[in-house]
Amino acid sequence: MSEPPFPTPRTRTHCPYCALQCGTLLHGDRETGVRVRPADFPVNRGKLCQKGWTAPDVLTAADRLTRPLSRGPDGRLTGTSWDTALDTVAERIRALRARHGPDTVAVFGGGGLTNEKAYLLGKFARLALGTSQIDYNGRFCMSSAATAGNEAFGVDRGLPFPVADLRDARTVLLAGANVAETMPPLLQHLDRAELIVIDPRRTATAHRATLHLQPVPGTDLALALGLLHIAVVDGLLDQDYIRRRTHGFEEAARRAMAWWPERVESVTGVPARDQRAAVRLLARPRNAYVLTGRGVEQHSQGTDTAAGFINLALALGLPGSGRGGYGCLTGQGNGQGGREHGQKADQLPGYRSLTDPAARAHVAGVWGVAPDDLPGPGRSAYELLDALGADHGPRALLVFGSNPAVSAPHAAHVTERLASLELLVVADFVPSETARMADVVLPVTQWAEEEGTLTSLEGRVLRRRAVIPPPAQARSDLRVLRDLAVRLGQPPDRYPSDPREVFEELRAASRGGRADYSGITYERLDAGECLHWPCPDTEERHPGTPRLFLDRFAHPDGKARFAAVDHRGPAEDISSAYPLHGTTGRVLAHYQSGAQTRRVAELSAAVPEPFIEVHPDTAARSGVVDRGLARVTSPRGSMTARVRLDPTMRPDTLFAPFHFPGDGRANLFTHPALDPRSGMPGFKVSAVRLEPVSEGAPGGRRPARSPTASREWEAPPPDAPGESPGTSGTSASTRHAESPLPGPLSGLLPGPLSGLLLGLPPGLLFGLPPGLLFGLPPGPFLGPFLGLPPGPLPGLPPGPLSGLLLGLPPGPLLGLPPGPLSGPLPGPPPDPLLGPPPGPLPAPPSGRTTPLPAQALDAMPEVTP
Ligand code: SF4
Repeated sequence: MSEPPFPTPRTRTHCPYCALQCGTLLHGDRETGVRVRPADFPVNRGKLCQKGWTAPDVLTAADRLTRPLSRGPDGRLTGTSWDTALDTVAERIRALRARHGPDTVAVFGGGGLTNEKAYLLGKFARLALGTSQIDYNGRFCMSSAATAGNEAFGVDRGLPFPVADLRDARTVLLAGANVAETMPPLLQHLDRAELIVIDPRRTATAHRATLHLQPVPGTDLALALGLLHIAVVDGLLDQDYIRRRTHGFEEAARRAMAWWPERVESVTGVPARDQRAAVRLLARPRNAYVLTGRGVEQHSQGTDTAAGFINLALALGLPGSGRGGYGCLTGQGNGQGGREHGQKADQLPGYRSLTDPAARAHVAGVWGVAPDDLPGPGRSAYELLDALGADHGPRALLVFGSNPAVSAPHAAHVTERLASLELLVVADFVPSETARMADVVLPVTQWAEEEGTLTSLEGRVLRRRAVIPPPAQARSDLRVLRDLAVRLGQPPDRYPSDPREVFEELRAASRGGRADYSGITYERLDAGECLHWPCPDTEERHPGTPRLFLDRFAHPDGKARFAAVDHRGPAEDISSAYPLHGTTGRVLAHYQSGAQTRRVAELSAAVPEPFIEVHPDTAARSGVVDRGLARVTSPRGSMTARVRLDPTMRPDTLFAPFHFPGDGRANLFTHPALDPRSGMPGFKVSAVRLEPVSEGAPGGRRPARSPTASREWEAPPPDAPGESPGTSGTSASTRHAESPLPGPLSGLLPGPLSGLLLGLPPGLLFGLPPGLLFGLPPGPFLGPFLGLPPGPLPGLPPGPLSGLLLGLPPGPLLGLPPGPLSGPLPGPPPDPLLGPPPGPLPAPPSGRTTPLPAQALDAMPEVTP
């Protein structure tokens, strides 16, 4: 069935979700509904994923917020006027500030806010509130890669090259990135490359890979060090590049020398031969790229881990070479622009530092205040949430474009902190779990109802355009900030509410900064110019900078920096009480906390509830069954969901998606230990146990309850009759493995081998202490790095040695012939549900955790705009 002809006029804009920012064409009105088509835009080339196709449904969500709500003395949220709502907020902020000082009011922003909103939010916090307490949910996504990128290259732009450059890649290493589910149209650019995927799960992306390295969660840095080690020992370095374009190689390499392949294998579980194969693929002539994602970044050592992969890319001479590079796959819709313009705790617009006197003077000048009027840096996101309602913490919080009750780590604790506030104000367009806890809820516009700009993962500034007016009383966030600022005594002209005016001011504030937007205008963007920052305002129109680092890196001497990093384990190790690694992530059908996508009927039908993905053997040992309810418990709390068996999972690991609320919140078990430099929590690895739950037991019910037990929510009546959240698109059922399948270890447990896969300490794992394991003193191993001839270990083939050490016949674990454990894990059988679905919408059958990317992409209809 083909779509009817797309009528004109069409509005050219971009998908509201992820940082790929696929180009779209919108048509329609509020009465007949908005329809979307993919545009022939360079990143998506006429394709959209399931979320993009169904994005208009959020515009008409049944519980769309259409008027301000205020919590009354009876504890219920009920409708009120804008004046009453804003007067109430301003009055309570004034009273709290008078009693406790300006830092008693905090602000929490979002990586989905437009550049204009992010900019004005930072200005509002620092001038109208005078608070240092502002941060945003991008701290949970991008901060470690950003910190590592700034330190290595002198600037942080997710991809310092256009996405389309990937089409010329011969090899792409995806470290902790599952693009087949998070941004499927990107796969078009990877179809000529051989993929190396690093992921503890055999994801849809890993299924496409030439090589899947499946490390123990939390050991990615050891693997990165091992890959650098191999590049050194095997003579694969680009010595000329290292000498001309970098500093710090010697110390970085010296640390990597302690991570020879067999040691890396013992820590990560990745076979030494696969490590060697990965480096050989990357070091081949022609283009190679190293790309990191949240899987390796969301750790308490995430900055060092990202730096470890940057070291590898630098050692191979890739960044800025014009024949490959390093990049970070930014996640949120405006994850790039949102981290550049001042909503971060330590930052001013233009990616300037709040502690730099020159930066403070420049921005204060643009804002018409004295530099000393600007507060200093505040707490990072989790630290801020953790301090809410505490003795010296904020007593009021204003939330824009975020849902921390679901998305923050240690979610039960964060929910308690939110509940302890004297004032919680949430600006959103749907009643998210955080909005349901608020004292005042402010209904704001969303993507197709507003103008603005966003900056994609490749640093390209894009126009967002309105196609329909907002419903009823919804207002833009810019107007909300202005109206509040004026009530707090600020001059009205300091807070323009027109996005174009705000952007003009942002241009001036960013002028001369790392992220210089001063040469970018709405007029140039509307004329179709492709503008990547930095784009300074020069006499001759600056063309923008699609490719960074071709001549020099952004450090004053033009050279990149290797980082001297070393592996350290996760903040929490497994134990007898918590014997599994719990990890979290996304599925194709949902986005972030799910506040939007859970309101789209087609997406909700595809993945209607949370799940726990485990290996059949792990399930059997834990007493849980396929589709049965189970509880995942860490020292911080428990989540409950149904079990999905997946024989490709590591038996020492379980996975849960983080898009769901209530008892199904994966973040109930995640760890809030922070990376010391980026403030990134260690979302990706927690020590957990798995146990069955009977359907009638506490926590054993579905759907999950809201985390707002102490605050009641009364859904406001629909603003316009006939609005419906549903679509008539293809629905699909959730896929489950039919029955526990015998896994590669089924016949071997329990025993010493089980220790290996359960991630027990090395002694148990191999039955030998580390010294015996490697059998040799450290000297010879380090020979190549210490200027000595290669020692016996590097010179020996890994199979027999490792086999002997493990007391196993050669092969199974470390040997070269694929054995039950060493070879690539078997993929699941072909699934009849995975064929291209009928109908106009590409509707992959479920939130994918098993292979399908090729088919999913093929199912995207081609559209000629
Ligand atoms: S990949 Fe999907 S969610 Fe991301 S921008 Fe494209 S259509 Fe939207």
